[in-house]
This record gives sequence, structure tokens and C-alpha cells, in this order.
Amino acid sequence: MLKCEHLVKDYVTGDGLVHAIRDLTITFRDNEFVSILGPSGCGKTTLLNIIGGLDNYNAGNLIINGRSTKDYTDKDWDTYRNHRIGFVFQSYNLIMHQSVLSNVELALTLTGVEKEERRRRAVAALEKVGLRDQLNKKPTQMSGGQMQRVAIARALVNDPDILLADEPTGALDSKTSVQIMDLLQEIAKDRLVVMVTHNPELAHVYSTRIVELKDGQIVSDSKPVDEKENLEEAGKEALKKPSMSFWTALSLSLNNLMTKKGRTFLTAFAGSIGIIGIGLIMSLSNGVQSYITSVENDTMTSYPITIEDNTMDMSVLMGAMMDMGDERTGHDDDRIYTKNFANKILSSIAQTESNNLTEFKTFLQSKDGEAFRSLAKAIEYDYDLTIHAYNPNAKTEKGLVQVAPNGLMEAIGMSDMMSLREQFLSSSMNAGNEVWNRLPDSQALRDDEYELVDGHWPENYDEVVIEVDENNEISDYTMYSLGLMDQDELVDNYNDLQAGKIDEIEPGESVVYTKDELLDTTFKLVLNSAFYEKQGNLWIDKSEDEAFVDQLVRDGLDVKIVGIIRPAQSTVSHTSMGGVYYPQAMQDYIIEKTNESDIVREQKENKEINVFTGRAFSDEAFDPNALSDAEKMQLAQLDQKQLMEYMNTMSENANATYASNMIKLGAVDRDTPSSISIYASSFDDKEALGDLITAYNEEQEALGHEENVISYNDMIGVMLSGVSDVINMISYVLIGFVSVSLIVSSIMIGIITYISVLERKKEIGILRAMGASKRDVRRVFNAETFIVGLIAGLIGVGITVLLNLPISMIVQHYTDVANIAVLPWQGGAILVAINLVLTMLAGLIPASMASKKDPVEALRSE
Ligand code: ADP
Ligand code: MG
Repeated sequence: MLKCEHLVKDYVTGDGLVHAIRDLTITFRDNEFVSILGPSGCGKTTLLNIIGGLDNYNAGNLIINGRSTKDYTDKDWDTYRNHRIGFVFQSYNLIMHQSVLSNVELALTLTGVEKEERRRRAVAALEKVGLRDQLNKKPTQMSGGQMQRVAIARALVNDPDILLADEPTGALDSKTSVQIMDLLQEIAKDRLVVMVTHNPELAHVYSTRIVELKDGQIVSDSKPVDEKENLEEAGKEALKKPSMSFWTALSLSLNNLMTKKGRTFLTAFAGSIGIIGIGLIMSLSNGVQSYITSVENDTMTSYPITIEDNTMDMSVLMGAMMDMGDERTGHDDDRIYTKNFANKILSSIAQTESNNLTEFKTFLQSKDGEAFRSLAKAIEYDYDLTIHAYNPNAKTEKGLVQVAPNGLMEAIGMSDMMSLREQFLSSSMNAGNEVWNRLPDSQALRDDEYELVDGHWPENYDEVVIEVDENNEISDYTMYSLGLMDQDELVDNYNDLQAGKIDEIEPGESVVYTKDELLDTTFKLVLNSAFYEKQGNLWIDKSEDEAFVDQLVRDGLDVKIVGIIRPAQSTVSHTSMGGVYYPQAMQDYIIEKTNESDIVREQKENKEINVFTGRAFSDEAFDPNALSDAEKMQLAQLDQKQLMEYMNTMSENANATYASNMIKLGAVDRDTPSSISIYASSFDDKEALGDLITAYNEEQEALGHEENVISYNDMIGVMLSGVSDVINMISYVLIGFVSVSLIVSSIMIGIITYISVLERKKEIGILRAMGASKRDVRRVFNAETFIVGLIAGLIGVGITVLLNLPISMIVQHYTDVANIAVLPWQGGAILVAINLVLTMLAGLIPASMASKKDPVEALRSE
């Protein structure tokens, strides 16, 4: 039973108050077909909307099943609309982008009826209105009568107590109108139907009661409810509150978006522009960062902190040079001053510091050195050890090919030039002409610098690897040096060229090896100490004795090439000449064997006497008169050449010390490296390592061990200080750009969502009429922003990835730096996520605006 008591509804307009309903009282029976007639503007629609719970009244009362609606909550109204009311409008108000079936299902969807049940009931309702075979059509493909029937089916699907129809035939021709009226009459058999119409004839034919309205008041009622009439209070069971699941909202929005794919795509694309901007900046910043990191890495690998046993303080030198251009204050303009330069430089050159590396190595390997070990990428120790290696299978006119130290320059006659060069380069720098070099001990460094092409890394002290370049080439210089190409040929050509016999040296016939052949090559290793032979009680240098050396090499240790390596792809370009790399284990082996040799043991037993001369180290110069008779006898037996050598040795003795003899013999102490190289992974790590060294120094000073203080040259640090700052600054600038793009893109998305709300106003009204709550409406729009945001994010990331390809190619073309624009997948995922969150945030305001829309007004909009 529905009852209006003294109902009043006023509208506030620009011109003042409009009284749409004035003091209207009427009671409806639970089962009748009421037609409401009246001129346009008399308040028919307003009354219907109030009865249907779409609009609220200003005064009076609406009583539903005996309960006053004055204390109805929003939820109560939603439930009432959803379960008790079916609306049929003049303009059908179907959701155009949904299929007929979905339109009808909508009211059930809102209450969360199971999918199959929903379908069954919707199909039944459509069958009732004769549209069983049009389930999947879109309303746009139907005639007006068909659409109105869909609307009736939709109104019936929830089996409401009351069907409200506002001029249902107003837009239909008379024939179709009759069909609709038949349908309504049928429906009115077991419920209340209230119909507003302009057509009195139809009303009189079909309805059971006719109410006429004028100026918001009832002017006639054909069958008013009698006071005494016994109206049953149909107490219905508690009704389920309608509520939309997020999936319903999502599918509703998805369908809506699917109907306007082009527009949705454009919207998403517009939203994605911000993402593309951010994505590109992210890619570039990522690419630049990883480029910088790899440059840092390469630089750090090429320029470790190297501490040598003797070092010149380069920073003083550099400081002096940099100081030159500084502005001096307090100078008179009309005077000339002296600039202190030469003095500074010379004094810095003279300041050679000696470092106690024995102590430092012990420290590094002790428990206290843990901080160093964990921070450093690698710590490498070098020793004053000359390795002697030969190629036993290659001969020259002068004898065996000496691979290490490289004998090629000497063969050509340029050894003087080389040794001059070596004198000027500190030993930490690769002298450059050696082809037999040490491989880093740390696998991390090896992996940084090289890539294994074939075979394996040395696993034993008698295993070496050979280096080729990225084109699988080894320079002929290295080939000659290793005796893999004929040295004599090069020497002859060189001599001919110098003598003017030829104009230029024809390139030697290039040798091609298979990897297996190269891996099969062996060399011979000879200990430094093995070059000396004891004659009487003196040790004689036999290194010039070809037969002796031949035998020595034949008895030498076999060393095998077990792997082929190649410089790793590095950003700091470095050309490879190729060469052999031996492991630290080989050095250790030589040191151990050398220390076990007779000559070294003899020298160690008597540290005062030089084993080569039999004289005390302190002897200033060679004095023949001081020779003993036995020594004179011995000398007399030597031939001319041997005598010369002896004399040479004697004069060398003037400078010889115990230590220099040990180095000459290769008897190095493993505890005393000649240099320690500490490798860092980044500038920051390097700085931290520098700080650790400072801390070590301070501790040593505090302990009173001034002699243990370490000084070193951080060339790269001096040169590159400030680079880190620049890098950081670039990063900040990029982050700034990113923030601006983010703001712009979220504003854009907010605007887009707002436009969508304006566009879907009608749908909001329909949803509300169906009983959707404000929250449901909000959900629909949140779902829409969710979808648009997701698509925008995906498009943005996709386009970014695509754009990165040409950008990288262009940058590579101009700068040779590869992969400068790479979007990390995490970055992509974060971008999509952030975009989603921002889009939904930006959509919140429009969505809540939508939910607050007055349903009546929303329905009226086109
Ligand atoms: P009917 O449906 O009988 O043609 P309505 O119920 O739509 O008439 O309107 C009754 C009166 O209320 C009319 O004068 C109309 O202009 C006014 N009216 C209806 N809705 C509004 C509104 N939202 N704001 C202002 N005036 C309104
Ligand atoms: Mg009207």
C-alpha cells in the first residue's frame, strides 16, 4: 500500500519558487492500473519520481506499507528502488552501450544475483515482452517500441510491487502504443501500475482508475480509496540491500569503453603522454646511469688505488701545477712578483716516500682488514719478480725466442729505447712491450676485464691463457714476441729498411690458428736463479751461454695455454695487442722454487757476502789488489769474455745490496709485495677506501709506528673529483623533469575523467533509478579510471619501449654509446602502477561528483 499525505514539492529556480506539487493526498491499492492525466507542467513526473524514491518531497508524507519514509536512509531508498519499483520512461533510458540482456540484468546485477539466475530471470522477462530472440542486440539497433519493451522487461525483472511508467507511449506510434498498453495491462494484473499519459483514450481503455492533476493538485479521481476499504498490509520479508561488486562496475565501464574504442584509445593515449615523457626520462636516466656506472666500473678497474713500495707524491705535483693559475690577492699592480713553481715541483719530485707494504699486507689479511676486504672489489698484490719464459719450438739466429722478458726489441736492437721508456714510466703502469703479463687473481676482476672465448681459466700454476681482440686477432708484434711468427724475418726486414735496401716492410704472412692449435701451444719456464752456475765458490751468470740456456729451457717447466680470452665489452676503449696471461699461482710457484734453490739459500745464509762476488756488500769498489790468491787463480782460468763479465759484476757490486741480489735472483718474500692495488666498484667505494687508508694511517701514527704510514697517488681521484657531483646534479635535474611530467599527466587524467562523468550523466541517472547507491556510481567511475589508467600506462610504457630503440640507435650513431635509453622492467611496472594510482586519485573527485548527482536531473540530461 502506497499513500501520499499532504505531499508538497517546490523547486527553487532563478525566477523564484515553483510549486510542482501542492498538498497532494492519494492512496494507491496494491493491485490496480492507475493512469495520471493532466496538462504539461502540472506535476505528473514530479509525483511519479517522488513515489519511485527518485526525488524527495519538501513536506507531507509518503507512507510505504504503513511505514513513513521520513526517516528513510539513502540505503533504504536504494533498496526500495531496487526491489519494489520498476521504472519505465518515455525516452526508454536504456544504457546504449550494453546489450539488451545486460540492460535487463542490470537491476539483478546490482543485488548480486548469481550469473545464471540473473540470465534466467532476464531471459524470462524479455520473453514476457516478446523479445526472447533479441538478447544480444544493442538498443541502438532497435525500434522505439522494442526499446520500450526492453525497458519494461528491465522494470519487471526484479518482480517489483510497483511499476511506474512516465508517458511510456509518448514517443511511439498508435499501433505500437497499443501493444505496449496491452503489455502494461497484463503486468497490472498482479501489481500496482501507475502510468502518466497524455492520451486520455488509451487511459480510459486500459486503466482501472484515472486521476487527473492540475497545478500540482488532484482535480478528479475515478476510484478513490474509501476510508473503510480494507487494505492489506502486505508485509514483505526483509530485502537484500543492493550493492555492486567491483567486477560489475568494471564490466559496466569496460563495455562502455568498448563501445567507443577509438575515443578510449585517444583518451588513454592522451593520458599516456605523461607516462611516455616520464618513461623516456627514466630510460635515459637509467641508460646514462648504467653508462656512468660502467664507465666508473671500467675506470675503477683500470685505475685502482695502487700503493707502491716507493712512491712520489704526485698530488703535491698536481697541486703545484693547478695552483699556477690561482689569483693572488694583496699584490700591487705596479710591481712584478715571483711565482713559486720550479721549487715546488722539484721538492715534490724529491719527496719519495717509502711504504711499508709488508705491514700493510699483513694488516689487509688480518681480521682488522675486514673492512677493506668487504669494500674492495679486489685486492691484488704484485711482486718484483721477473719471469723468464721461452718458446722452445722457435729459434732465431741468436738462439731461443725469449718470450718473457720480451726479447723482440733486443733482437731488433731497440732495447735501449725500451729501457729508457721503462725508466720514465712507473712500474704500476704496464710497460706496454711485455707480452707475458699477470692475470688478475680475483675472478671478479677477470670477469670485468675479459671474457672467456674458449678453454678455461688457469686452474694450475703451469697454465696460462692467451688474449685475442674482438676480431679474434692477435697483433703481429705479439706473434713475433711469442715466437709464433719468425722473429728473424722481422729483424731482417728492419735491417734492410734501415740500410735502404727496401722502401717499406711488407707485412709478414699472417698466421691463422685454429683454437685447438693455439690451446696446444706450450712454453718453458725457467727460474731466475737457474741462470747461475757455481764455479768454485762463486756463482757465475750463464745467461749469455747459449748451450747452457738451451739445456736450461729444455729442462724448464712446461707451461700450457689452456684458454683464449678477449677484452670484455668495455666503455673505456682499449685496444688489445694480445698476449699471454699467467696466474698468480705461477708467480707463487716461482717464488717458492726460487727460495728453495741453492744460490738463494746460500745468499740467505750469509747476508753480508755477495754470492756473485764473494765479497761483502759494503765494499765500495772493485780493488784487484785485495783479491786473495785463490781468487786470482780462479780469474786466471777465465777466458776474455768471462773476465769481462766478471769485471762487470764487480763494478755492479758497488751498488749491489742483499735486497737487490734477492730481487735479481727472483727470491721475493711473499709477505713483501712491491705494490698493492685496491680495486673499487664505484667512486663512492673508492672514496670510502681512501678514508679507510687514512684511518689506518692515523692508527699507525697513534701507535707510534710512523714508518708504517702509507702514502699513495690517487691519480684518477685527482682528475675525476667533481665528476660525481656532476652526475648527481644530472640525476636531480632528471628527477625534477619527472616530477613535472607526473603532475601534468595526473591533471590531464583528472580532466579526462571529468569529461567522462559529464558524458555519462544519463547512465548515472539510470543506475540510480535501478537502485544503485552513490557508492555504486562512484565505483563505476573508479572502474573507468582504473581501465583508462591501466590502458594509458600500458600504452605509455609500450610506446616508451618502442621509442627507446630509435633513440638508442641515434645516440649510438653519434656517440658510440650503446643502449643509452633502456626502460628497466621494474621501472615500467612502477610507472604503470603509479599511473594507475594517480589516475584513480585524479578520478576520485569527478567520481564522487558523479555519485552526488541528483538522479532526476541526471535522467533528464541527454
Ligand atoms: P509534468 O511532468 O506534469 O509535465 P513536471 O512534474 O515535470 O510536470 O513539472 C512540474 C513543474 O515543476 C513544472 O512547472 C516544472 O517546470 C517544474 N519543475 C520540474 N522539475 C524541476 C526542476 N528540477 N527544477 C525546477 N523546476 C522544476
Ligand atoms: Mg512529465
